[in-house]
Amino acid sequence: MESDHQKFYVTTPIYYPNAKPHVGSLYSTVLADVAARWHQLHGDRVFFLTGTDEHGQKIAQAAKAAGKSPQDFVNDISKNFKEAWKAFNINYSHFIRTTDKHHTEAVQHWLTQLIGQGDIYKSFYSGWYCVSCEAFVSEKEVSEKAPACPTCGRTTEWVSEESYFFKLSAYQDKLLEFYKNNPDFVTPPERLHEVIAFVESGLKDLSISRTTISWGIPFPGDEHHVTYVWADALNNYITGVGYGDKQRQKEFNFWWPCDLHVMGKDIIRFHAIYWPAFLMATGLELPRKLLVHGWIKVGEQKMSKSLGNVVDPLELHKEFGADPIRFYLIRHMAINQDTPMSIEDIKTRINSDLAHDLGNLLNRLLALAHKYSTSSLPAPHTWGPEERALQEELIAMVTEFKLEMGDYYFHRAYARVWKFIHTINAYFHAQEPWKVAGRDREKFVTILSATAHTLYACAALIWPVMPQSMTELCTALGVSLEGIHLEKLITEPWKKTFTLTVREPLFKQYELTTEEPRVENSYISFEDFTKVDLRVGTIEEVSDIPGSEKLYKLMVNFGELGMRQICSGVKQHLTVEDLRGKQAVFVANLAPRKIMGIESQGMLLVAENDKNKLEIVTVAGPVVNGARIR
Ligand SMILES: [Zn+2]
Repeated sequence: MESDHQKFYVTTPIYYPNAKPHVGSLYSTVLADVAARWHQLHGDRVFFLTGTDEHGQKIAQAAKAAGKSPQDFVNDISKNFKEAWKAFNINYSHFIRTTDKHHTEAVQHWLTQLIGQGDIYKSFYSGWYCVSCEAFVSEKEVSEKAPACPTCGRTTEWVSEESYFFKLSAYQDKLLEFYKNNPDFVTPPERLHEVIAFVESGLKDLSISRTTISWGIPFPGDEHHVTYVWADALNNYITGVGYGDKQRQKEFNFWWPCDLHVMGKDIIRFHAIYWPAFLMATGLELPRKLLVHGWIKVGEQKMSKSLGNVVDPLELHKEFGADPIRFYLIRHMAINQDTPMSIEDIKTRINSDLAHDLGNLLNRLLALAHKYSTSSLPAPHTWGPEERALQEELIAMVTEFKLEMGDYYFHRAYARVWKFIHTINAYFHAQEPWKVAGRDREKFVTILSATAHTLYACAALIWPVMPQSMTELCTALGVSLEGIHLEKLITEPWKKTFTLTVREPLFKQYELTTEEPRVENSYISFEDFTKVDLRVGTIEEVSDIPGSEKLYKLMVNFGELGMRQICSGVKQHLTVEDLRGKQAVFVANLAPRKIMGIESQGMLLVAENDKNKLEIVTVAGPVVNGARIR
């Protein structure tokens, strides 16, 4: 990304609006937005394209079911996407819809060119077809015997229909050559290996039209056909910046090739194989980079009501606001793997990283300055050794941060920023400005000024992820991020004057509930109750679980049932001394499950006290270990 050119063109996939936006689409979109804002911070000219893919049989069917014309249907439903992106401060330059007149005409122009030069030809497409759904079963599911229709379950039949084909096979060698010469084409690089293996196994020509579908772009010169899926959808990346419009030729030449296509791993094949082949045929440069992210896993845990809402971006927004969710997605999700997500985890991350590490630091700075009637913080003439060390730490951090951002490993880049925020907290704590305030005014101002300088630098780096909160943070410091220059930020000596304004905490602290899914408040039978084997056990050992801020590993003596290992999420509520040697009540017949890689063979029962802290459930007097609760 440390490139010579001063423009940055980034895209998301265009989303299929037969359903509402999903947290997976939000993740792709936030990644693209962060990349766009990061380049904005460099002073680059940025174009950010997103939109909706509005053709196809599923849309036509959904429209019919809703009693609307397909066009009216997509007009309504594409608004859901715009609304969601607006709520999350997604700063796109253009929202493309494949039903836009310009897109339709440009795709027809493209098809005409490729037909003319022999890259597209007419033949027959064969496959298993559901008459009721008027749709072919996808090629993935091709088999010898007629498969059931994945949509309606009816028996399918073998059908051959006339279709136009793109000569994908002709590009096999050129694609392999391209991957070889551009090993950085895909981030993370291991995803490119899967693509290469697929291409090496042999490419078949690609069917790009249907006569069995009516809701699509009419094929030029053949009114029985409409353009099918990828030949329509992928071209949005060029039509969105003016391809096919003579008036916009200059604009197109400026933005193309695309600098970054963001997508989930399920559609890499289309973007790394079909798309480059289409562009080669068109005589256009290939995109510079594909950023391919893993999946957000929500399904592994039991769906409770609150967890079910995780998949709806607007529900998440209602509960946590835009910035904390943007932050969670960027900081918690690893680009290169599938990552589980839960409400508990979102709360924990917001509490620790935002409310505690960053928010409290700002609060302490503002409160202390206020207490000693210091609203203006001029930079001192000379800095002490501790402050110079802090500044060197900052420079080292920004250097590493830029490298990670350049490779689009955003989660690692921001992990580095938070490591530095811990360093600022440690500095602030060690300097004890609350003790210095009364006896050395100059030193007091120096400590606060150094803290404000580092907070300001962090705010600039975090701004792409949390634009609103970081703007507010800067307002509290009396500075602005407008026109900020990243290089100057690290190389220039600290000489800013900060004017502080006390404000309420920047981030909310969330109450944590237990990890168990909520139980519906309704009656159970006595028989149901007796299924739960509740036992008293003595907690003999309590130890930490590496990497977990919430969990203890307990070794519990259940007498006749033996010793058991049980994980319990009470670490933030109870100390080792609170637990060790105590008798407590456990569910003894809960199916064993792995938590943070450790098998838990039961569950400790707890209740919340009036200070939102958890207390263990115990017995009034000593009983034999393993005693049953009745
Ligand atoms: Zn069907």
